Amino acid sequence: MSRYFSSKYDNLVPYVPGEQPQDKKYIKLNTNESPFPPPRSVFEAAKEEARKFYLYPDPDNTAITEAVAKNFNLTKENVMMTNGSDEALNYAFMAFCDKDHPIVFPDVTYGFYKVIAELNGIPYDTIKLNDDFTIDCADYSGIGKNIVIANPNAPTGVALSLAEVEQIVRSNPDNIVIIDEAYVDFGGESSVRLIAKYENLLVTQTFSKSRSLAGARLGMIMGNADLIADLNTLRYSSNPYNISRTTAACGIAAMNESTYFHDSCSAIEFNRRYTQRALEERGFTVLPSCANFLFVRSEWISGKELYVRLKDHGILVRHFDDERIRDYNRITIGKKTQMDKLITAIEEIYKEIYEPEE
Ligand code: PMP
Repeated sequence: MSRYFSSKYDNLVPYVPGEQPQDKKYIKLNTNESPFPPPRSVFEAAKEEARKFYLYPDPDNTAITEAVAKNFNLTKENVMMTNGSDEALNYAFMAFCDKDHPIVFPDVTYGFYKVIAELNGIPYDTIKLNDDFTIDCADYSGIGKNIVIANPNAPTGVALSLAEVEQIVRSNPDNIVIIDEAYVDFGGESSVRLIAKYENLLVTQTFSKSRSLAGARLGMIMGNADLIADLNTLRYSSNPYNISRTTAACGIAAMNESTYFHDSCSAIEFNRRYTQRALEERGFTVLPSCANFLFVRSEWISGKELYVRLKDHGILVRHFDDERIRDYNRITIGKKTQMDKLITAIEEIYKEIYEPEE
């Protein structure tokens, strides 16, 4: 750290993204990306739009905002497009949280919430998940604090029902409730339809997972028009050209590919059920997941050891060295061939430990 770095960041521990190794080719089941490339129309849209790189993009992001609004039966005043949904979350924390408006979130959830609270000097509290890693919505009812919940939650994959989310939103009318739906397309129930009913609800989604655009960086935040106007005030005050021309064009093309989108989500859900069964047959406990990953543990190998041994076998999964979840690994659902290789590697690891060759 330089001697010039502001002391206001003394406690800031930056978010550590999952590994993106450049050295060797792994089967990447560690950052919840889609295993499917974007459809061809997306490449073509990017290529075409790159011709206009000499001009700034539209700071209102009009075309992509309208495409997203139409997809969700909203108006463009209900939507703000962002550089990945991480940017949306950061703006929402900046806009609505401060010393007098702290935020709460589950003790086991997306690690970025804590980081952006620290970054913005926002007091935060965590609420313990139940022993089975479900969220008890009663814990969030009428608590009079801002709330952020990933639904489905990460890294567990466990989802709340729409009725449970509604109870949380309805019972905290003077506070903002942010529902982070990064993984909702793989079997969760979206809260977007509650936006017309509740002025305190914000919903974030992303193109990174179900729409195969993690590398393009495109996300969105949706809510009541007044909330979105506040968020745009911050966006214009920090990064008015937050979406590149190519990213916006890719997003519009991806939104038009509804069959491709539905087919890839169905394939992931199929492969998730297949992998869950295969892991359970091999002695794993698997949390019920509505996301494109499984959160798994086993009595026969520790979470850390499985992570290390799978890496040796050329497969990357995500291990978090946090007390409550140290026994687990989060495994992204990929193509069926990739999941078969995972299962084979796990069988080999079992043999390495319990049936070593002389
Ligand atoms: N929310 C959750 C729960 C996530 O796991 C992620 C991905 N790390 C994000 C939001 C942000 O994803 P992106 O910025 O790629 O939209």
